[in-house]
Amino acid sequence: MYNLSQKINQVQNSPTLVLNETARKLRESGADVINLGIGEPLNDCPESAVSLARKKLESRQVKYGPTSGTEALKESIRSYTEEFYGRTPELGNITVTIGAKQALFNLLQVLLNPGDEVIIFSPYWVSYPEMIKLAHGIPVLVDTNDDFIPDMDEFVNKVNGKTKAVLLNSPNNPTGGVYPPELVAALVDLCESRDIFLVMDDIYHQLVFDPSEWVPGYVFTSKELDKSHLVIINGISKTFGMTGFRIGWAIGPLPVIGAMNKIQSHSTSGASSVLQEAALGALNGGEKNIRELKTFIQGNRDILVGELKQIAGLKISEPKGTFYCFPDFSSLVQDSQELASLLLEKAFVATVPGTAFGKEGHLRLSFTCSRNEVIESAKRIRWVIDRDYSPEIVIGGKTYQRNWEI
Ligand code: PMP
Repeated sequence: MYNLSQKINQVQNSPTLVLNETARKLRESGADVINLGIGEPLNDCPESAVSLARKKLESRQVKYGPTSGTEALKESIRSYTEEFYGRTPELGNITVTIGAKQALFNLLQVLLNPGDEVIIFSPYWVSYPEMIKLAHGIPVLVDTNDDFIPDMDEFVNKVNGKTKAVLLNSPNNPTGGVYPPELVAALVDLCESRDIFLVMDDIYHQLVFDPSEWVPGYVFTSKELDKSHLVIINGISKTFGMTGFRIGWAIGPLPVIGAMNKIQSHSTSGASSVLQEAALGALNGGEKNIRELKTFIQGNRDILVGELKQIAGLKISEPKGTFYCFPDFSSLVQDSQELASLLLEKAFVATVPGTAFGKEGHLRLSFTCSRNEVIESAKRIRWVIDRDYSPEIVIGGKTYQRNWEI
């Protein structure tokens, strides 16, 4: 046996691995699999991103850059922050990382002492608890209601002397919910007054559907950036459909960002200078891509949610943003892993069970696939679980009968 660290032994493997593997095998065997498990938009990235990255490569001068990111990109992030957050950070308040994921990882490493607690709202993004544990912290869960809004009384009860940070993701993965401004205001207030870091993971903030609105946390604090306990996490992965470029960033008080740079200087040395050029291109010229993506996924949402609402017993809180919905199937099937397996094996639809996000009885459905696939997947889901739907379906030219009871 190899003797690995206690730390790594406490960390879970991604619970989606088994289903992904089954989906892959099914696809290889020729099945017409529709993937609603995927967490990324399928659009082309902005041309402006490609052209700057290409230029950088063609210069044949691709060397180490500043650990915290290139000045040009940080200046663009400053303008972006000015535009969307109404604040103008100094360049020292900005660090560029290898995706938002690394920004969160570095941040937790610099904030937490062993045993420090971090509050997260359930359902949560899969990586939050594991990242907290990797920083020797303790994830503390606060439940949410049917519309995925946390209960403030429960939240306040869980805050204690060990609470170091609160992690907030709005618009939310996996629910698609956008937290109401009053809630964000209350959280900002409490965190600022008790010196608790409020980490705002805003990676989906431009993917919000009318008439819902995302409001930046900075609106609710009058403290200057270097006195505030707010840390903003953002990136290009979701809004520009640039998941593979791996560029994200954090904005926060100088000592926190400086400490994150220290970690980065001894780990990755910083993000690739070619991909930072791509991010620069996206932030300066990629706006049209965001508008198109938003319109496209909003159309997909309307179709999928409209179909799911027809299923008796299913509860769904309509997503206000992102490209996920998180319907509650618990009155039909309790075990979300079992339901995900059923959908995959019978109807070749890949989904993510709610347990991956700490909420049994739900599935996360991602609707970034093509319009036809969304229409088709909705039909298949209804066929599998909706008793009032036709017992017969044609998939990939073959006719199947529903011969099970839900
Ligand atoms: N936060 C949330 C809530 C996410 O869903 C994701 C991506 N799935 C990330 C952060 C990480 O994004 P990035 O690709 O920039 O690392």
